[in-house]
Order: sequence, then C-alpha cells, then structure tokens
Amino acid sequence: MTTQDYSDTHRLFLQAVISRRFMSEKDAIDLHARVCQATKGMSSPFDQDDFTDFINTVNDSLSSLEFEIRRAQDEANGDKILALTNTNEQKIAQVATGYTPLELEYFKHLLDAIVTADDELYCISSTAAVNEASKLKNKENKSLQLTKAGAEDLISRFVQDKWLIRSKKGALSLSTRTLLELQSFLKEGYEDQIQECTLCMEIITKGQRCNVAACAARLHQHCAMKYFGNMNNPVCPSCRSPWDGKTLIGLAPNAEAPHTIRRR
Ligand SMILES: [Zn+2]
Ligand SMILES: [Zn+2]
Repeated sequence: MTTQDYSDTHRLFLQAVISRRFMSEKDAIDLHARVCQATKGMSSPFDQDDFTDFINTVNDSLSSLEFEIRRAQDEANGDKILALTNTNEQKIAQVATGYTPLELEYFKHLLDAIVTADDELYCISSTAAVNEASKLKNKENKSLQLTKAGAEDLISRFVQDKWLIRSKKGALSLSTRTLLELQSFLKEGYEDQIQECTLCMEIITKGQRCNVAACAARLHQHCAMKYFGNMNNPVCPSCRSPWDGKTLIGLAPNAEAPHTIRRR
C-alpha cells in the first residue's frame, strides 16, 4: 500500500529518471538520497520498504500516462536495475527512440532472430547478425541498403545504448533494458518463445532449465541460487526430478553462438 503523498521529492526524482530512462538500483538509491537532500534538506538512512513506497507513489502518478518504473534483476549478473517503461508499448519505435526507420527495422530483425533461436539459445553470433542486414526489405519489398560496415556500426550502437549485450565471444543477446522496456511487445509477439522464470515470473532468456524436456521449469541464475541455497540434493521446483543446474537456457558463458541462424 502506498501511503506517501506525491511531493517535490517525487517530482524531482521522476525528472531525473525520465532523462536517464534506465539505471542501476544503486544509482537510483543515490539519486533518491540527493533529491531528499535537495527538497527536505536531509536524507534519512536508506530503507528498502520506504524506497519501494516512494517508487509506488511515483508510479501512481505515472499510470494515467501509461508509464511505469519497473524494477528487475539483470539475468547475467543479478544486478538490480530500474527502467522507465511505457506500459502500452506496441511499437519498438516508441521505445527505442533516436534510430531511423531502417535502423529500427534491422533491430527488429535481430530481435526476432534472437528470440526464436533454436534450442532456447536466445542469442545469435555477430557474424549472423551482420549477414541479416542483407535480408532487410522495405514495404514495397525492395532491398534496403545497409552495408556490412553499416550493420557492424549499428550493432555497436545497439550495444552501447544497452538494447543488446555482446559477449566476449561476440554472441548478441537481449539486455535487461530490452526485456523490461519491450516486455509486452515480446510477450504478445512471441507467445510461444518467451518464457518466464518459475520463481520470479519475469521473462527469462539466460539461466538454468529442468533436464526433463517436458517440464517448463526455468530459473534465472540468481533465482536458482536463492531457491536452492545450500540444498544437498536439489530437485526441480515444478516436477521434483533431480536438478543439476547444468542444463542451460541461453548460451553458456564463453561459448560461441552458431554462425547461421536456426529458428525453432
Ligand atoms: Zn527469476
Ligand atoms: Zn522439472
């Protein structure tokens, strides 16, 4: 339950979030302390519940505008983050601003190849991504011009802008920002491919999966750690079969993604 009244502190915090769109929880907590200092002349010791109430109050004020601050944990390292998201996002163009229609078309192509990658890999190699550029067509079915070098530059921009993650071995996967900001787009457009973590119910594209092929249990690494703890003989939270934590969803760290795109 939200008990706080919307104040200048909330307004100032929101302004900063609007200009950044995406930040670590640590940065958001620092920001919170700074806006408290600026508006109330003091910042009290950090309290997780108060902070949650604070975010809820900001979200109440945003709901009629179809915006929301979403909080999540990074799939790769468990870091906590915050993102300002459009709750009614239908088009990628509304979310990933600052790109030309051609660039967005290319992003959509990459997103599609990543989400539909065979064997729940949820990634493609940089080589495969660059090759995809030659398949771009406009509405009149004419090929769009995106050179190999142009595609490479653009991929770097997507990585820099935190829409994609590139591993040391060049595998491209979806970032936490993309998973948060394009949540409805992904869930509605890829009902059969997008899966949820059995524990936290958030989208999962990196983590552990049950060895039993018919079982839908999937766990983020940080959720698996939290759930299994020091359990001696971990079993699947869903089908109770032994859980070795070695069957993965997403690419194993340091593995190379296939150079050709295979869709499920
Ligand atoms: Zn999870
Ligand atoms: Zn299972």
